[in-house]
Amino acid sequence: MVDLVSQYEKIKSTVLPLFEEIMSKAQFINGPEVAAFQNELQDYLGVKHVIPCANGTDALQISLMALGLKPGDEVITPSFTYIATTEVIALLGLTPVFVEVDPNTFCIDPEAVKRAITSKTKAIVPVHLYGQSADMEPLIKMAKANNLFIIEDNAQGIGAEYNFSSGRRLKTGAIGDIGCTSFFPSKNLGCFGDGGAICTNNDDLAIKIRMIANHGQSKKYHHDVVGCNSRLDNLQAGVLRIKLRELDGYIASRQKAASFYDAAFKENENIEIPFQSESSSHVFHQYTIKLKGVNRDDLHDFLKGKDVPSMIYYPIPAHKQKMFTHFNLVCELPKTDQLTEQVLSLPMHTELEQEQLSYITQEVLNFVNNSK
Ligand SMILES: *Cc1c(COP(=O)(O)O)cnc(C)c1O
Repeated sequence: MVDLVSQYEKIKSTVLPLFEEIMSKAQFINGPEVAAFQNELQDYLGVKHVIPCANGTDALQISLMALGLKPGDEVITPSFTYIATTEVIALLGLTPVFVEVDPNTFCIDPEAVKRAITSKTKAIVPVHLYGQSADMEPLIKMAKANNLFIIEDNAQGIGAEYNFSSGRRLKTGAIGDIGCTSFFPSKNLGCFGDGGAICTNNDDLAIKIRMIANHGQSKKYHHDVVGCNSRLDNLQAGVLRIKLRELDGYIASRQKAASFYDAAFKENENIEIPFQSESSSHVFHQYTIKLKGVNRDDLHDFLKGKDVPSMIYYPIPAHKQKMFTHFNLVCELPKTDQLTEQVLSLPMHTELEQEQLSYITQEVLNFVNNSK
């Protein structure tokens, strides 16, 4: 699905001397690379504060902790997402309220959010799934009208831009009250282990978030709130600085591969290519097709036999996970259920070559055309 080895080869000559320097100075925690990366990511995203942390799941958890919510408060989120988005809500004793996604964009449906708002709703967590922004403008309007926070799950969307109807463009993660991202190796901006970051334009929230990520500490040995220990280390920050300079190029490579797939599949009635929303650019964290009239699981198995990796993101939606059974969720999400049976993600990374793309598309088409 990804080729991180070939990508590494291209930056190796910059990474190795930097690692050598960091290790020879034993600057592992809170080093100069962390501070520099924080500033560079702020510039890239166009956001006032970036608080690095240990991973994307922590980023989401710490963000929710910073809102000062009470047990039982409701947080609206899509069910069609990676489990981390929803898990942290339950972990903090909050109530996840799962809603449908728009089957075209795979992102949270603003109309479904509107219907789910109650007097207990405190926050909305849209996910920029597969690399395209959720429709933020209506969500922001609803959040303003109902006094809700918006926390963006930008783990898959870093680098994408959302277009407001006014013509204003903002990078995902810098639109809501808080944005969360992950630097897991296979993400669009990935490090060599775990990493994450939280972004906000709100000075008060930034102070709280920084405090929570550091044992609730306001100054050395003064712990004002219950927090946790969530840090990005100096080696990871060093790699991320190098890769942040490449990020727009990485995105362009992904978009080029996506165009190749699109051209190969767009005339096929059994394959629905990714919808490209006018309100967002697409950074193709995943290239995900929908299969219609052919069995998705059979295609998945067929590709495996041809040495073509493919993945189902995500086979079981959050509202059907055992971990949430005690919430007695009465939720019917037929669109989400259908997507879990239709979607298939094909190899997508920065190093895909024409020859590989031709092979993959040919095998997909062979299966689809022969199974009619
Ligand atoms: C990867 C991911 C996360 C979690 O990030 P980690 O760094 O693995 O904790 C959260 N949400 C989404 C949508 C993701 O893809």
